[in-house]
Amino acid sequence: MERRQKPQWVKDVVRGRMEKLLVLAEKNAKANPTRARRYASLAFSLSKKYNVRIPARWRQSFCRTCFAFFVPGKNVRVRADRVNKRMVYTCLECNNKRAYGYGG
Ligand SMILES: [Zn+2]
Repeated sequence: MERRQKPQWVKDVVRGRMEKLLVLAEKNAKANPTRARRYASLAFSLSKKYNVRIPARWRQSFCRTCFAFFVPGKNVRVRADRVNKRMVYTCLECNNKRAYGYGG
């Protein structure tokens, strides 16, 4: 089976669509979490399908397990792990933990 990289213009189009979806997710996160979750999961499936990274701005904005879009103080707990120099995000909807190094 052929596994070529998608051409750059396809990735640019996909990145644009992902950004639109994530902006919508952000807008809906408080008033309509179910819709926000749907947008986040669509963006994530585009990311996987086209091998395009989630834009940096949103990389830590949603749960990779249940796709809940994080609203600080509501459905996410952020803890600094100073020993390993990372931030630990706990999704309060599915209890999944994910760690991110400082600065990306
Ligand atoms: Zn979750």
